[in-house]
Amino acid sequence: MYLKVKKKYNRILIKGIKNQTGTLPDLKQDYLNESAPAMLAAMRYSRSFIPTLRDAPADAEVTSHKLLLRAGYIRRVTSGVYDYLPLALLVLRKIEAVIRDEMNRAGAQELLMPMVQPGELWEKSERMEKYGPELLRFKDRHSHESCLGPTHEEVICDLVSRELRSYKQLPMNLYQIQNKFRDEIRPRFGLMRGREFVMKDAYSFHADEESLAAEYKNMFEAYTRIFTRFGLKFRPVEADTGSIGGSDSHEFHVLAESGEDLIAHCSGCDYAANVEKAVSVRASTSCEQAALNMVETPGVTSVEDVADFLSVDIGLLVKTLVYRVNGGEHDGAIVATCVAGDDQVQEIKLAHVLGADSVEMASDDDIASIGGITGFVGPQQLSGRVLVDMRLQGATGLVAGANQPDTHVTGLDITRDIAEPEFADLRETRAGDVCERCGGMIELSRGIEVGQVFALGTRYTEPMEVIFQNQQGKRSVATMGCYGIGVSRLMAAIVEQCNDEAGINWPLALAPFQVGLISMGRSDAVRDTSETIYRQLADAGIEILWDERNERPGVKFKDFELIGLPFQIVIGDRGLKDGEVEIGWRQQQRKTVAVADVVNIVLTELHATEANS
Ligand code: ATP
Ligand code: MG
Repeated sequence: MYLKVKKKYNRILIKGIKNQTGTLPDLKQDYLNESAPAMLAAMRYSRSFIPTLRDAPADAEVTSHKLLLRAGYIRRVTSGVYDYLPLALLVLRKIEAVIRDEMNRAGAQELLMPMVQPGELWEKSERMEKYGPELLRFKDRHSHESCLGPTHEEVICDLVSRELRSYKQLPMNLYQIQNKFRDEIRPRFGLMRGREFVMKDAYSFHADEESLAAEYKNMFEAYTRIFTRFGLKFRPVEADTGSIGGSDSHEFHVLAESGEDLIAHCSGCDYAANVEKAVSVRASTSCEQAALNMVETPGVTSVEDVADFLSVDIGLLVKTLVYRVNGGEHDGAIVATCVAGDDQVQEIKLAHVLGADSVEMASDDDIASIGGITGFVGPQQLSGRVLVDMRLQGATGLVAGANQPDTHVTGLDITRDIAEPEFADLRETRAGDVCERCGGMIELSRGIEVGQVFALGTRYTEPMEVIFQNQQGKRSVATMGCYGIGVSRLMAAIVEQCNDEAGINWPLALAPFQVGLISMGRSDAVRDTSETIYRQLADAGIEILWDERNERPGVKFKDFELIGLPFQIVIGDRGLKDGEVEIGWRQQQRKTVAVADVVNIVLTELHATEANS
């Protein structure tokens, strides 16, 4: 077996050397792919695995999901878990190459950690319970608690804690590109929200806060370069730190209608934040002070219906929502919250205010336990905490539920009628709000979160004992940052921004093949000319897919448009009679060039475009 492999390898090597001399090698077609350098591919369509579909499966909702399925890039294995077919892997590798390049340039070092992680580490960081059901847990045959890594703070802290001795080893930034598993409650949109997905995750360790701040900036800039190199319309925004903890955080969002996140940004300054975190101002609605008065509102519960029924502005209503607190100091508590009728409670902000992991809507029984009635809850006379949005501070003449069936109150005065209101910023920022920083107008856009950077401080290094001897010879806890990019989600996000009615419109640098060569007809002349051009371009390092199938030209054109190859060469008998072939960029008018010139012209066009991008 070994000898056989070795013999074959030598043969390829010899062919490879001949290739470099510039003579056209007499290759059997089997070897053409094998002799191509890594990352470069030349492929015949008839031998490739590109299962395109005429129609997108019915369950594909967003463009990228539909196109990646139809164009034969991905297939679903089970909920949120996908096969990356050869075309997808070629693109993924190119995305990874750009990320690696910029991470290495920024001074980070690549390593690879395991996907299976021991439960003890998660106990130590106190995240075993906290992380919730997204952490897929299992026991191995020795009954050891284990889990599939959704992220790697625990494993990297464990590693670094065992090797770190002195401040002289700091700072350090280690990264990997690896599959993660999160048992997402609603995996959807194909690669956008999978359960198993590819992430680039980096972790930096520092002797002090200044060093962490410098690395945070360094990574922020590296991310900006990465997403710029992909030609994406993106925006970095201030972000909530979520379950990962820490202080400072930014998310990078690709702007797209299909994005799951809502981003608030100011038209007057550079303030931008995820609505989970965004702060903004809106004038409070208040009217004249009046006595508290009961009004019958039989069966009228929603704020819109109550406003209609009583003919008052919806902003004068108080929306009272009751929540159950999960995690933190107040775990299990039932709290009431109030926002103006035209506002929404931002639950992530609320969880933050409460120091909780999350909040969930309370049950009817929970509501009754604090003296409320579902559908008619009001903040007055409730037992327990009442959190009131700052916009309602001092407001009078409001309408709220009366905590009695089919009844509301009018004339509610926040200061007078609520026993101990706790004011906090609970409302979700809306378009048209005023920017706190500059007074400009807030706008909202949808975004796909493709990356996030966190200044974690000592949230993990403290419990995981990442300790070193500082310059003064004292034991000190390292500070830490972490920096993620959703590599597979990025592929979907790029398709969301780069597509048209015919299919995917890959930027040249990311396409699985730069050139698609279509042979029309089955004459010897077409075949021989195609093969010569195919080999010459492949030898010149061009990634080329040659459609030599016995299919109608229409089918071939459709497939190339769908899979999104940027440049096309079309060879047919009609042109060859005059010694000509057609070339052109995808979706643009093709031009006619002489067979003898085609390779040079294609190389020039591709290189010129590469240089400009
Ligand atoms: P989300 O808010 O979308 O659930 P997250 O904030 O929990 O993501 P991070 O922990 O910041 O995710 O992970 C780093 C990056 O990994 C994210 O910015 C995102 O691009 C990607 N990512 C996270 N979850 C998924 C997923 N389920 N499928 C694909 N990519 C994901
Ligand atoms: Mg995130």
